[in-house]
Amino acid sequence: MKNETKCLHSGYTPGNTEPRVVPIVQSTTYVYDSTEEIGSVFDEPTKSLIYSRFANPTVMAVEAKIADLEGGVGAMCTSSGQAATLLAILNICNAGDSIVSVSQIYGGSLNLFSFTFKRFGIECIFVDTDASEDDIRAAFKPNTRLVFGEMLANPALTVFDVEKFAKIAHEKNVPLIVDNTFPTPILCKPFDFGADIIVHSTSKYMDGHALQVGGVIVDSGNFDWTSGNFPEITEPDLSYHGIRYHEVYGKAAYIIKARMQLMRDFGVYPSAHSAFLLNLGLETLALRMDRYCEHGLKVAEFLQSSDKVAKVNYPGLKGDRYYELGKKYLKGAGGVITFALKGGKEAAVKFMDSLKLASNAIHVADIRTCVLHPATTTHRQLSEEKMLAAGVDPGMIRFSVGLEHIDDILADIEQALK
Ligand code: PLP
Repeated sequence: MKNETKCLHSGYTPGNTEPRVVPIVQSTTYVYDSTEEIGSVFDEPTKSLIYSRFANPTVMAVEAKIADLEGGVGAMCTSSGQAATLLAILNICNAGDSIVSVSQIYGGSLNLFSFTFKRFGIECIFVDTDASEDDIRAAFKPNTRLVFGEMLANPALTVFDVEKFAKIAHEKNVPLIVDNTFPTPILCKPFDFGADIIVHSTSKYMDGHALQVGGVIVDSGNFDWTSGNFPEITEPDLSYHGIRYHEVYGKAAYIIKARMQLMRDFGVYPSAHSAFLLNLGLETLALRMDRYCEHGLKVAEFLQSSDKVAKVNYPGLKGDRYYELGKKYLKGAGGVITFALKGGKEAAVKFMDSLKLASNAIHVADIRTCVLHPATTTHRQLSEEKMLAAGVDPGMIRFSVGLEHIDDILADIEQALK
């Protein structure tokens, strides 16, 4: 099936007389006929439902849909994108390990990797997204457990060279985790280029309507965990009566371990109601992504033609630094543009406060146009050096184009520029 069809039908097929729409199973728990039966569920937790802290039918329908859209063997939703990144890494990283990440990633991921992971004893070595293969190899240590990158970075809008990083990660027998939030599986399927695990903030385009905060981890099933580097997947898990995930679950070992062990312990599972809302967004995702790309390009071209604008970043724009990589990996550059005005930060603030249709919001990738000044908001806590490395300069404006009529969006920008 094509993306449009999967968006509508994957994950839930009603039987005779069953509800047309994925039902909201608003229940924490599930009943069993006997003590023996409920006990046996703990031996095979993937076969039956136990408790909505780690599995719920509404959420599972959405998980199956996203796994299908990305082309993975399984997915697990989380209560935020931040939780998805956290669990995706903790699933294979322990105190004393290190990870390699590109610097051009979402500010929340930067904080997690730079500060909170340090407190957990996990070190992050950052490399520039444009680093040479030798420089990337030099960032590896004997204890490196994974490589992390963001497909279309928020807000730097750099395009992650998946093949370059996957090649080196696999040479070193570690998986590549890619945050695919901005492109969504409609514009890019990172598994096709060698990524092993994908994470998303579903709060962005997937939901699209600013209704729920959520995340998801998707497992390609392609990574070979048996190199000896990943005993948590190949050796007995003492917290789950000695199960060896790889032996029992084969290609789905990583994602099943994430649910049975980490979701059990951390409990950052979304509610059925949130998953229902996310599903409504997913149903129109393919349709919306097309229009975001069309609007994104028009806004980027409009800004580039203005004599008040100093610089525009949008990989769909000819001449953009990431235009060629964008052509290779993306079916479109989406609806987020960053740009700087000739008047710097002061002009940026004045421009943003003069917008009438576009709202000032922390959110991005919404159905309604919104705008943000990353340096004083999402990246406020970072040092100037880290901010610049993340691709954020003090005058940068992040413009998230919505699905209003393009003439109205452009008219709003024009009057604010004036
Ligand atoms: N990844 C990216 C690319 C993001 O833009 C965000 C949030 O803006 C996150 C992860 C974190 O997601 P959430 O806000 O759902 O926790």
